Amino acid sequence: MAALENVFSWSKSRDEQFTECQRKYYYDKYASWGGWDKNAPTPMRMAYVLKNLKNRWAWKGETVHHMIEQVLKAMRSGEVIPFETAKEQLSQTMRANYKSSKAKKHWEDPKRNLGLFEMEYAKDIDDKTWKEFHDSSVECLKNFYSSSLYQELLKEDKKSWLIIEDLEEFEFDGAKVYVKLDFARRKNGKIEIFDWKTGKDDGQAAAVQIGTYAMYAMRKWDEPLENIRAFLFNLGSVSPVASEQTVSQKLINETLLTMSASIKKMRALLSNPDKNIPLPAAQFKFTDNERLCNYCNFYKICEKYSK
Ligand code: SF4
Repeated sequence: MAALENVFSWSKSRDEQFTECQRKYYYDKYASWGGWDKNAPTPMRMAYVLKNLKNRWAWKGETVHHMIEQVLKAMRSGEVIPFETAKEQLSQTMRANYKSSKAKKHWEDPKRNLGLFEMEYAKDIDDKTWKEFHDSSVECLKNFYSSSLYQELLKEDKKSWLIIEDLEEFEFDGAKVYVKLDFARRKNGKIEIFDWKTGKDDGQAAAVQIGTYAMYAMRKWDEPLENIRAFLFNLGSVSPVASEQTVSQKLINETLLTMSASIKKMRALLSNPDKNIPLPAAQFKFTDNERLCNYCNFYKICEKYSK
């Protein structure tokens, strides 16, 4: 089998990481490459295991997204998963994650066993807080089930559904741009894209994300911009409603500028841009905002602290 190639790509989360701390970006995108092999050299393996840690907010978001994905995929094939069943499944997953993280199983197999950041770094999180995270995840799922959108999805023709949580890509400026749409469908001659939210929103970041979704949709389904609609769906709200986001040429232009500037800065730290080979680690600056280090997966291998 041909060796996997570390291909340069762009996504909103990659840009956020690069902006936060270049060194963190280096550990995540380059130092960890190949660390899925448990016989990989120790620094590579450590970077890989740490890269896969999730903090409790990301854990909650990912678990809820995954459960909704299963509910919708079942619905698409004609099966309705009752709320109680979905809730039990979500609780079981979270209990299993909590247990395996506590037992540090992620060091044996980080792909199969979730490692929680707060446990890995012995942060002082009491049982009550962990329980609250579980309960608020169940609340998000419950809010989804009690929404009018859920009722609408139950009844409508599933042939109009386009995407449920698929990782998609398109080309821009010679780079693969990754987008993960939570849900997309056709309705009344338009494409509607939904983004489930389980935490706080960052308006600016959300706008760029929506811009990339719209660009993807126009290319994928060959639709003009005026036929693309995008919605945020806040699952933390008791009666969630789809909040329509502005999709305009101005947004597309701003997204293009953001992507292009970000890709340029990332490529400037490559010794061989064609092969995505980075400059030495020392060229990737540590963040000046040390508060971010308290939340960084790579703290225990970061040379800012270990040298
Ligand atoms: S510990 Fe701080 S400086 Fe080091 S990689 Fe993480 S965020 Fe960057």
